[in-house]
Amino acid sequence: MAFAAASSAIVIGLSGHPVRIEARLSPGGHGFHLTGLPDTTAAGIRDRVRAAIVNSGYDWPPERITVTVLPSGIPAYSSALDVAIAVAILAGSGKIPLKRLSHTAFLGELGLDGAIRQIRGLSCAMRTLVTSGIRSIAIPRGHASQEIRCAVIAAGSLTELVDRLNSDAPAPAPTPSDSTRGPALDLTDLPGNHAARHALEVCAAGGHHLLLIGDGPATMLAERLPGILPPLDDASLAEVAEIYALTETPRRRRRPPLCAPHYTNTAAAIFGRHAAGRFRPGAVSLAHAGVLFLDQAPEYARSVLDGLRMPLETGEIVLASWQGVMSVPARFQLLLASSPCACSGANTCRCGPVERHRYLNRLAGLRERIEIIAPIDPIDCNAQPGEPSSTVADRVAAARARAAHRLAGTPWRTNAQIPPSELRTSHRLDADALDPLESHLHAGALTPSTLTRILRLAWTLADLRAAHRPTRDDTQHALRLWHGEPA
Ligand SMILES: [Zn+2]
Repeated sequence: MAFAAASSAIVIGLSGHPVRIEARLSPGGHGFHLTGLPDTTAAGIRDRVRAAIVNSGYDWPPERITVTVLPSGIPAYSSALDVAIAVAILAGSGKIPLKRLSHTAFLGELGLDGAIRQIRGLSCAMRTLVTSGIRSIAIPRGHASQEIRCAVIAAGSLTELVDRLNSDAPAPAPTPSDSTRGPALDLTDLPGNHAARHALEVCAAGGHHLLLIGDGPATMLAERLPGILPPLDDASLAEVAEIYALTETPRRRRRPPLCAPHYTNTAAAIFGRHAAGRFRPGAVSLAHAGVLFLDQAPEYARSVLDGLRMPLETGEIVLASWQGVMSVPARFQLLLASSPCACSGANTCRCGPVERHRYLNRLAGLRERIEIIAPIDPIDCNAQPGEPSSTVADRVAAARARAAHRLAGTPWRTNAQIPPSELRTSHRLDADALDPLESHLHAGALTPSTLTRILRLAWTLADLRAAHRPTRDDTQHALRLWHGEPA
């Protein structure tokens, strides 16, 4: 069986959504099946794609072809996907090198004669793709947009596009955001999503753990978290370098690491392995002093989600082998993202509160450790660009400096590390600030451990305001962040 995947995007209303097209060509049968789109749309696309490929002079593959559009349930106006579907099929049948599909996305409608036609919302779709990390985009000829920073392959027809993909054109120059020495991925690339951006800033300032819920650019936000965190100090830099020296990719950068293992990874890949005297660090250690990002968090194996509790509690992971026991640093900030339900918010979703609760409840074992829950929305291309990462990083650095000054002479450096005993003594809040929490506590809605985490969060909010102590507003704000309620 042959397999090829191509990236594309669609625009619904004013927001763009990345789309992945997967084509499988299997021997036996001649069908062309298209799943993930409404039947009426699928029929039109099948007709256009088949006619365009044949009329462009390519043989229609003799295999059974199954094309899957992900996420499923995209509404009817999806002619923007024609070119990506045709390219995936042609790559699956060996007409286009598979590697040319890995960093390029495809936008355009196909005419029956193989012409590539303009689509509605092209700039918005392009912006969505660039912010999702795509470096080059194939678009209909004559519609390049100057404002979007990426390499463009403009083609008027399918044959022209296939020729361009087969020519040995040099790979597109990396945009500044890809450069390892230049500025990192920036928050300005991420318009809208105010609640999620605010949550990211608070989590960076206090060292708190965060859960993002919704169908939006969670990976983009995660990739931008290291850019607003303070650079690694000498001690952390040395520890991280030591851990990475055990892998094939040594690391000596000041920027905190981000490790994002996929949910199909084994527990050994997540936690590390110790065998035959050799230690292979897992994701929890590769994220040491940085960020561990789990996208689609409820999909991870129960053993993985439960296993995270140990490093979250102790900052290290203990691996046992026949030679004995060894402990490895694994102190990371946890960033989780989840769709509201198992069907990824697809348009066909009919999940009610019960299904949604059941899905997110897979994270129940980690709930106590997550200080902030925030909603995440699809990219809104009409929203104003957000603040640059440098501005947010300055506020984070100032807040961290306040906390470090207050905690001077203690083993703790961030608010997330302040122990309960300190919160009752040196970090005790006045009665007015505590009042919103007392009522929850008396109503049994807060456990003592939850209270500890909300108090730490209130200190971070005060530090971000450059205030001496948290006020009633801060504790109320912290409560809302804890519950994932709108600000
Ligand atoms: Zn659903």
